[in-house]
Amino acid sequence: DPVILWFRQDLRLHDQPALIAAAHEGPVIPVYILDDETPGDWRIGGAQRWWLHHSLTSLAADLKDKGSRLILRRGRAAEELAKLVEQTGATRVHALRHYEPWWREAEAALGDRLCLHDGNHLAHIEDIRTGSGTPFRIYSSFWKALQSFLPPEEPMPAPRKIDAPAHWPASDDLNKWRLLPTKPDWSGGFDEDWTPGESVALERAKEVGEKMAAYDTARNMPAEEGTTRLSPHLHFGEVSARTIWHQTDGHRDAVTFRQEIAWRDFTHGVIMALPDYGDRNGREKYDRLPWRNDQQARADLKAWQEGRTGYPIVDAGMRQLWQSGWMHNRVRMITASFLVKHLLIDWREGERWFWDCLVDADYGNNSVNWQWVAGTGVDANMFGRIMAPLSQSEKFDAGDYIRRWVPELAKVGNAAIHDPDDAGCRPRDYPAKIIGHREARERALAAARKL
Ligand code: FAD
Repeated sequence: DPVILWFRQDLRLHDQPALIAAAHEGPVIPVYILDDETPGDWRIGGAQRWWLHHSLTSLAADLKDKGSRLILRRGRAAEELAKLVEQTGATRVHALRHYEPWWREAEAALGDRLCLHDGNHLAHIEDIRTGSGTPFRIYSSFWKALQSFLPPEEPMPAPRKIDAPAHWPASDDLNKWRLLPTKPDWSGGFDEDWTPGESVALERAKEVGEKMAAYDTARNMPAEEGTTRLSPHLHFGEVSARTIWHQTDGHRDAVTFRQEIAWRDFTHGVIMALPDYGDRNGREKYDRLPWRNDQQARADLKAWQEGRTGYPIVDAGMRQLWQSGWMHNRVRMITASFLVKHLLIDWREGERWFWDCLVDADYGNNSVNWQWVAGTGVDANMFGRIMAPLSQSEKFDAGDYIRRWVPELAKVGNAAIHDPDDAGCRPRDYPAKIIGHREARERALAAARKL
């Protein structure tokens, strides 16, 4: 009898323990289910739909090369899988473990027909606990505890061939899912920057070692290609975290980078323990924070989303996000802090915008980082720490980055690029600052005092 291999955010054939286990038991029916129902408001966003289309196309071709196929279904994952089990007489469903609350809901509904495997993380996240048995809330302690589970297992090679069932069940047509944008088609910048799929993910992973020597400092410089840009490949599981980890074996300078990879394990541990972390403040006292929500605040939110705040580093980041589906980490921190502190707008508004615009949108990484910057999270309590966007821009030498993403400022020299308004050489077509830094800072601190 056949067995089902259920793909989710693990669209790969190498280092795929669920595939190995399934192939061991019988002919394999690989399936991907587009589930816009179980996740509710957290259904996959616009930018990721573009990515998903291409990644599934690539996975289907790779499966074909191995004598197999990719079956596509749409609907509630648990129900679709139950139907598929009935239609095919499959004995079991194999899948890799994920921690998003909607996936856990679907898993629970499948009961003992489902067999879960580790493979998306450096370690079995449920094992990494404090002395009193609770999941970690502070990253540095998590990292320390993770040490006894390292190094991660060596990645497994892809099987050479995958046995096909005697009969294939029906499959949806990917094009009919309409995952690609049409009117307007905003994906031009995406095509330029990204090639989804396992083979490119693996090529990129092989280049990771070369980045290590400079990573420690270059990763903070938005104008440089100092980071790996592996995040969307990692989110969709086109390459595993442990494959990337082992690419840095023998590099003495890999510690900082490995700590970043481990951040992903940490955030997934947070959403395992606190499933509604994307919707709720980690610390209850912030429920009383007087977020702005009037008409002016709505206009400010729009200016932030469209990159028209008059703060060049913020605007460059927001436009990079819109045009390419990705934003540099340092700039994610600056833009997020600006929304939450300078504009006093609820972090969840920014989190939602990122969710829709990022090709790497990841429930754990996005919510934990937003709450970390906002200071509302379980890991840090620092709403009152306010980033100064203009000095951040200067410190991390963002001039070329700004000139690239904000064409109105393309001709502004280094002396004025971080704050053309203040320097008196703001081009006419570039907006004035929507709020002064000092005024914004005082407003945020006053709000924090009311808690
Ligand atoms: P590299 O520096 O090359 O790091 C390698 C990998 O480590 C990344 O691909 C990522 O998987 C992981 N990583 C690095 N930094 C972090 C971090 N701070 N938290 C968790 N994992 C990390 N990352 C996402 O993958 N998805 C998100 O939705 C997301 N939202 C964010 C929202 C905010 C407000 C902030 C401040 C950060 C967010 N990040 C998110 C984290 C980080 O910005 C990205 O992972 C990183 O910029 C991806 O680029 P890279 O692959 O070149 O990173």
